[in-house]
Amino acid sequence: MKIMQSVEQLREVLAGQTSIGFVPTMGFLHEGHASLLKQARQDNDIVVLSIFVNPTQFGPNEDLDRYPRDEQRDQRLAQAAGVDYLFYPTNDVMYPLDMARVTVRSGDDVLCGASRPGHFDGVLTVVSKLFNIVQPTRAYFGLKDAQQLALIEGYVADYFVPVEIKRCPIIREVDGLAKSSRNVYLSEAEREQAPGIQQALQEAKQALDAGTPLETVLAQTRASLHFEGTTIDYVEAVAYPTLGPVNPTTKTILLAVAVQFKSARLIDNLLYTRGA
Ligand code: AMP
Repeated sequence: MKIMQSVEQLREVLAGQTSIGFVPTMGFLHEGHASLLKQARQDNDIVVLSIFVNPTQFGPNEDLDRYPRDEQRDQRLAQAAGVDYLFYPTNDVMYPLDMARVTVRSGDDVLCGASRPGHFDGVLTVVSKLFNIVQPTRAYFGLKDAQQLALIEGYVADYFVPVEIKRCPIIREVDGLAKSSRNVYLSEAEREQAPGIQQALQEAKQALDAGTPLETVLAQTRASLHFEGTTIDYVEAVAYPTLGPVNPTTKTILLAVAVQFKSARLIDNLLYTRGA
């Protein structure tokens, strides 16, 4: 595995490659990231992983400065996952002039977009830069961040970006908590409460299967997510992947939750296909 910081160097080694699988991340890697890399390894000749904690997707009061980092461990995991090139750019490399940014037109007025204004503009900006640098054949994203994934698919369609976007399933701890770099922020007591998020989503799935109206299911989910010392950021349902309102013809529903613990905001979701 080669580690690179410069765009020119990376472009040079990638020139002429027939299939490039790309996994963009913010590092502090875990099995969720590893599953994306594994899929990329299976599908492509070359696997590129990027690690960049992108400042433009963090709000002023968010965790940019304390976002967890562990370069040595990340390199070991990347090597074990069969990564060929690890792209580790600095802010100056990624934002040389910062004259241009990508703006989301629709789909960021709900869920995380509503509570984190500008977040998805930052995400699409950095993803667009990374796609232009790596020019991947396929790029792999987790359904853990389902809204992000839908917006990236929308961006790729709207800008005719020649890349295939691959949706990858959510990887969880044995107790059901979705793996996340931010789980390290949780106190012991919070870590015990956190699997309740997945339990609430599973109950929601059962209720939907039983024909319970969506609004009732959302109310029940909100009620069951009231853990001590936490606040619910949102429990919402939108059509997927349009991110518009659910209506009687909506086939796939994204039921998404965000819970604010003392020092970590955790998200999780359920993709529910009606009549499946
Ligand atoms: P991050 O480093 O948090 O920006 O995540 C990088 C990529 O890994 C994104 O496409 C995430 O959706 C994906 N990812 C993060 N956690 C998980 C997980 N538990 N299961 C599957 N994919 C994940």
